[in-house]
Amino acid sequence: MKVTIIGGGIAGLATAYSLLKHADSANIPVSCTLVESAQHFGGKILTELIDDFVIEGGPDSFLSYKPWGVGLCRELGLGDRLMGTNTKHHRTYVLYNGSLREFPEGMVTLSPSQSLPLLMSPLLSWAGKFRLVMEPFIAKAATGGTDESLASFFQRRFGVEVFERLIEPLMTGIYAGDAEQLSLKATFPRFLDFEQQYGSIIKGMLASRRQRMKTKLDTNARLTTFVTLRGGLAEMVRALVASLERIGKEKMLLRTGVKVTGLTKLVSGKNPKYEVKLRSGESLISDAVVLATPAFTAADLLMAIDKGITDQLRYIPYTSTATVSLAYPVASLSHAHSLNGFGFVIPRVENRLLVASTWTSTKWAHRSPSDHVLIRCYLGGVGREDVVFRDDQDIVHLVRKELRDILDITADPALSRIYRWKNAIPQYLVGHLDRLVEIEKRLIQYPGLCVTGSAYRGVGLPDCIHEGDLTAKKIVDYFLDSGLVKQ
Ligand SMILES: Cc1cc2nc3c(=O)[nH]c(=O)nc-3n(C[C@H](O)[C@H](O)[C@H](O)COP(=O)(O)OP(=O)(O)OC[C@H]3O[C@@H](n4cnc5c(N)ncnc54)[C@H](O)[C@@H]3O)c2cc1C
Repeated sequence: MKVTIIGGGIAGLATAYSLLKHADSANIPVSCTLVESAQHFGGKILTELIDDFVIEGGPDSFLSYKPWGVGLCRELGLGDRLMGTNTKHHRTYVLYNGSLREFPEGMVTLSPSQSLPLLMSPLLSWAGKFRLVMEPFIAKAATGGTDESLASFFQRRFGVEVFERLIEPLMTGIYAGDAEQLSLKATFPRFLDFEQQYGSIIKGMLASRRQRMKTKLDTNARLTTFVTLRGGLAEMVRALVASLERIGKEKMLLRTGVKVTGLTKLVSGKNPKYEVKLRSGESLISDAVVLATPAFTAADLLMAIDKGITDQLRYIPYTSTATVSLAYPVASLSHAHSLNGFGFVIPRVENRLLVASTWTSTKWAHRSPSDHVLIRCYLGGVGREDVVFRDDQDIVHLVRKELRDILDITADPALSRIYRWKNAIPQYLVGHLDRLVEIEKRLIQYPGLCVTGSAYRGVGLPDCIHEGDLTAKKIVDYFLDSGLVKQ
């Protein structure tokens, strides 16, 4: 069975890894080719080791309570490379009228279930605090679980002030999106479930915490909420590639610098064949094809097969962002903020170009030499993309100005690195899940043809890994059901 996987980001690599596993247990002979247009694997995962700094250009960590990221690392033998966040200095800050205030405990998980610190917080007016504590008494939506925007849902539940000052900046960080447009169901469905089941988010959070404590379900309880790998997330990519090469041998061919330019269906019927055309002029005839590219690339490639799928995929917009890492000698920061936490977020209502900043060398060990600090800043996102495409000098100037205003850092950075991510983060707009149903309905007509990756059911690394695994299972099931393989 010949399988072609297009795209060697985490989703494509995880699909390939799971495919070999599941095909092996089902005794299906597969021959898989994974083609990646860039010169390296990993897609958005990009770690640079510069002097003694570990600099992440893209993702810097992943959630441990979604088990698929930690699980894959352990399977790959990276269990003892997993590293949690600093447990001593774990404060997070939020910008409030130009100065940093500590983020109230409990809000980081997007729930004010620990209401006391929130009620003491100077971040909210008395009216805002009153509205917050009224949340359990706010009736649930009469529409009964239909999709709505994050802004509409959280303002309805907690009021405008809590939303603008505390909830919105956290969400912007994750999706770089506009809360007025992002789908609650596709991004944070848990909160909709809480409303439906308990009539309140606060009640739902409390109930879920009680449940967790009772059943000790949290298998990764010893890990911090976010984890990373000691030498950066590229360790996961390298281990995946090495494992595919080792297990794969003749079953797996990994190719970089190979761009797919076209896709057609050659044979119709129950067991079609697909032709994957490469820029070099070569063709890969395949029984199954996985498009693990951004949705807009999948849209272009699927045009010749089904324009309906292309149209649906094009409705998934993307936004552009940039990360800027700056290193400073510790001695040069004597009058500056002490960087005693994970960093800060900036609500949109503050009207700044900077979106957030991680104090990398405080949040994680082994990120910089002990006589330096490393700070990572985020720019761009929906409505603020222009800044991403300014020239390097402008961007560093802008970020340094923001750090001077907010943290009082005036020193020259010892090192600066800019990573631009054009059309990198998919936006799950209201109705996103209905769109996925449409796409899946159409894809059923093309056995062996799948789309996977961050455009669909989660942008985080664990979700992409999980999606890859489900995609691999789907292909193996198709091979088993198709009668193509004699059992
Ligand atoms: C700045 C930034 C910070 C982030 N931070 C985090 C974080 O801290 N934690 C977290 O969990 N997630 C984070 N994310 C999200 C996460 O990194 C991505 O959602 C995830 O890496 C996407 O993986 P993917 O495989 O779906 O897509 P990609 O990584 O985009 O991979 C797709 C691959 O397809 C290839 N390709 C495209 N077209 C073709 C073609 N025609 N032929 C062949 N190959 C092709 C591309 O070159 C690419 O390598 C972040 C994202 C960004 C941009």
